[in-house]
Amino acid sequence: MSNPDRIAWADVEPRVDIAAVATNLLGPAEGRRSAELLWRCPWHDDRKPSFSVNPTKRRAFCNPCGLSLDAPALVMRVLGIDFPSAVCFLAELAGVTPPPRKPPPSPPRDHADFARDAYHRLWTPAGRDARDYLHRRGLADETIRTARLGFAVHPWKWEGKRLKLSVPAVTIPWFDRGAVPRIKIRRIDSDVDKCRSLGPSKPPLLFPDVRIVAGATVAIVEGELDALLLGQALEGIATVATLGAAQAEPNAAILERLIAAKAILAAQDADEAGDKAAAMWTALRRSIVRVRPPVGKDWGDVHTWEVDIRRWWIDRLEGDANPPLFAWAELSSWRWGPSRDDRLGGIDFKPPKSIHAEPDRPDDQTPAPLAASEPSPVHAPSAIVTPASGPDHLFAIETCKPTNYCGR
Ligand SMILES: [Zn+2]
Repeated sequence: MSNPDRIAWADVEPRVDIAAVATNLLGPAEGRRSAELLWRCPWHDDRKPSFSVNPTKRRAFCNPCGLSLDAPALVMRVLGIDFPSAVCFLAELAGVTPPPRKPPPSPPRDHADFARDAYHRLWTPAGRDARDYLHRRGLADETIRTARLGFAVHPWKWEGKRLKLSVPAVTIPWFDRGAVPRIKIRRIDSDVDKCRSLGPSKPPLLFPDVRIVAGATVAIVEGELDALLLGQALEGIATVATLGAAQAEPNAAILERLIAAKAILAAQDADEAGDKAAAMWTALRRSIVRVRPPVGKDWGDVHTWEVDIRRWWIDRLEGDANPPLFAWAELSSWRWGPSRDDRLGGIDFKPPKSIHAEPDRPDDQTPAPLAASEPSPVHAPSAIVTPASGPDHLFAIETCKPTNYCGR
């Protein structure tokens, strides 16, 4: 090794088994053709395994994509890392003594570049599953493009320094005055262990990077995709944002951005963590109002249940000049029952055929049955809680300029 600080590819190359590299990155081979191992290509819509790895030639090929990759190129392409990091990764894998200074595959240093690559990849055939995932979450192409969402195969599970699993994931860039300080990475193949973050989780930022105009109605939700979904549904009615997690507390800078808002609605998930987060917000200011998703756990669930979200909000917030004041206990007892007020409960909740399971609910409730075959519609119970002295004018929504989504 010529440079003690840096591992040279020439030193690693003879020890690298490209089939082992591909297995590490892509999982077990899906087929074999004489000496070649076959996978479905990660970069095009591949029905039959056409991504081949030839250990003798020490290269990986995909004809439809016109690819011929050596081991470092394969690692760089799958993990989105630079050449030196790829060589370090291969050295680790081959058992070559690593250099004294790091790194195995580090997240790309420049988040903006990573986000941009992922954004472009989303709209290639390789991004089809990710696009399908985002569409299932209710996001329109325009929303996806405006938020610069992307697709990446991301290193996920490690055993020591060895990569055990890389997964297909959606990338969600957080913009802040033109920079990308954080990227949330949400895997699309599983709801378990579903998120990673590049960049610091503190200090709190607002997603999307919205400008909150004077007099705006602002809804705070838990997750980025919910913020985009609700922002899309409420365009022109309310600005929707998240701090990225239920428990994230707004710092002074965020409160300053929110100060122009006429009304703030705590629209976190309908579960214990969401209620707790909402309680934290409503305690900040008496005028902050809790709005619980009417079915399921979050706004993604509400979409899945084919509720017209925009209409639901307008019914709740605009059509009711004199809203009743609900207590928490009252709310939870209503949530699964029929509405006491048909004018409020005008939306029929018919679960789509694909849904058979009941949505999550807090354990202390006895829910009304919500079977998929339920013939009579379950009406939307009212889900607005106001503080005991909540001013009624909060519910009159003025149209504000749509400031949703990031401004790039
Ligand atoms: Zn291909």
